[in-house]
Amino acid sequence: MTCLRCDAPWPVADYEAGCPRCAAEGHASNLRLTYVPGAPGVVLPYPVALSLGEDGTPLVELPELAKALRLGRLSAKLEWCNPTGSHKDRMSAQLIARALERGAGRIVAASSGNGGLSIAAYAARAGVAAEIATTDALPQAYRRAIAAYGATLASFGDSMTRWHHLARRVGEGAFAATNYKVPAIGTNPFGIEGYKTIAAELSVAGKPDFVIVPCSRGDLLSGIRLGFEEVGGGMPVLVAAEPFPRLAQVLAGADYRGSFGGETAQTSTAGNTVTWQAVQALRASGGRAIPVGDAVVRAAQGLLATHGLHAELSAASALAAVTTLAQEGSLAGRHAVIVLTGSGLRDPGDIGLASERSNDAATKAAHIAGNDRRFTTENRSIGPTEGKRMTTLDSRLAALSAFAATAFTFSVAAQAQGLPALPEAIKSAGVLKAGVRCDQPPYGYKDETGKFAGVETDMAIQIAAWAFGSPDKIELTCVTAENRIPQLAGKKVDILVATLGITPERARVIDFSKPYRWGGSDMLVPKDSPIKKLDDVAGKTVIMLKGSTQAKWFEDNMPKLEGLRLNTASDALQALKQGRGDAYTHDAATLVVIAAKDPSLRLVGESFAVSDAAVGVRKNEPEWLAYVDAALDRMKAEGLYAKWVDKWIPAEIRPFYVEAFTKPKPTAR
Ligand SMILES: [Zn+2]
Repeated sequence: MTCLRCDAPWPVADYEAGCPRCAAEGHASNLRLTYVPGAPGVVLPYPVALSLGEDGTPLVELPELAKALRLGRLSAKLEWCNPTGSHKDRMSAQLIARALERGAGRIVAASSGNGGLSIAAYAARAGVAAEIATTDALPQAYRRAIAAYGATLASFGDSMTRWHHLARRVGEGAFAATNYKVPAIGTNPFGIEGYKTIAAELSVAGKPDFVIVPCSRGDLLSGIRLGFEEVGGGMPVLVAAEPFPRLAQVLAGADYRGSFGGETAQTSTAGNTVTWQAVQALRASGGRAIPVGDAVVRAAQGLLATHGLHAELSAASALAAVTTLAQEGSLAGRHAVIVLTGSGLRDPGDIGLASERSNDAATKAAHIAGNDRRFTTENRSIGPTEGKRMTTLDSRLAALSAFAATAFTFSVAAQAQGLPALPEAIKSAGVLKAGVRCDQPPYGYKDETGKFAGVETDMAIQIAAWAFGSPDKIELTCVTAENRIPQLAGKKVDILVATLGITPERARVIDFSKPYRWGGSDMLVPKDSPIKKLDDVAGKTVIMLKGSTQAKWFEDNMPKLEGLRLNTASDALQALKQGRGDAYTHDAATLVVIAAKDPSLRLVGESFAVSDAAVGVRKNEPEWLAYVDAALDRMKAEGLYAKWVDKWIPAEIRPFYVEAFTKPKPTAR
């Protein structure tokens, strides 16, 4: 086993306080199981021990919703088709098998519903006594079912008291089937292993670009992440839907061990804690957390029901989060999967838009927000009967997006204190001195009126706005590839947001923030060229710029290749058009712009020489570096990159840049 946080290896055992090394340092991190390499797909610790027929749940397509939200594809993973009606069964099968192997005489669990029911069922299957600690709010139907499985119910006024009760029982020798520690760690990793099967099943059905998961302590999120890692071949972006900002605050710089209060009717994902495993899953996949309040989630629940899917309120949060992402344009043309963890029958929460009255109110809200038009125009061409249905869908979607827009604004306000203290040296200047590029659209450039423009320029302005309370508190300086590091070292600027790639040579003289996007190389070829992939250029002539990253890469990796080395990008393009070479290689970001304008050319589309871009600061300024890192996390958590990509980049080439800013770096040569 290894620690998710510090990677320390540990012998196989049940670590009640998570990683012992992290615990000794005041941290709280779960472990993961590690396997002997070799077997394809995902491996479970107890493959068939206690199966009640869990796993293999249906994946249902939602084409109308996908179209209305402008997704390429939207699918729902129906986790309520598991034997006790929720995703928890995947975990319970593994966890209770572990308890059995350990010879546990009693299993204890704290649950607000689904988990308790599932653990009671699998404990019954294993013939082990179970005690479920729950709150007084647990519905009668759950109580009856848990009792029917022969488990004991202990009811408490609030969730913290339940955790204290569990800690006592564990002290008496019981096996814990849920988290009971503060700071929270998550469930025993043997249980979390069970969720890897979701990743395996989704991969078989065609790996999606995004997986949206309702989240509280992140067991499900972490298990899905571990599963995709084990399957291999790249990870979808994982998105956590949460009832109020918890993970979003941590991604924006707050300590994950803190307490994050909030009221919600989404009982299955309530609670005021965050776990390291959840944070880690989002970071590993380049994902983010989206807080979705009860109003927007009720609207989403109602919308799902009109498509035949009656989800539990907390499960519907996944669709609410998709709506937020879709509004930002992050999902255009992409495939997203929402994980519907539990059925609406399990949960007494009402359906938001079921009644005419609330529908009217919501539609009115949409009109006020001016959001109704974008969804109605797109559906004009459909037949009359279907058209009527789509009109209802339009108004519901419009209402939902109006709610989502409000929710997004609130989440920004809630995170206002997310950043560390500004270092005195920066603060006393009263203004942020930033170096940006002025000739590198769409990252940093001057527009036709001479104004600073581009995504990286907006990043610098946003940091100034957070640091000094106003976007005007910035002094921008144009820097070039050659002079940017001297400008920083000479204190002409305090920060470089300037297409700066991380290299070992540069790291010797400056410090890098965490990466905010990756950049790769590609090749431009005539439209009808036989070159389809990188290896096809063997024996051909490749045009490249002298001293460029690509020239170095070809020297190192394909030394026999014939290179035509030229001085400028315009010379190179002209040479390609004249047929003096078979391909022209450069930064993909540059070539994408050319290919979009010139239909006689196309990109080969295989990334190589991929590197990360980061913000540069001077060495030995750790507080400032920490501030910049936290600001970058916050930009990601608030979806700002996606907004800036929308603002500065034409729609036809946008997907390339959305990938670079929001998807994990591709594994390329
Ligand atoms: Zn550790």
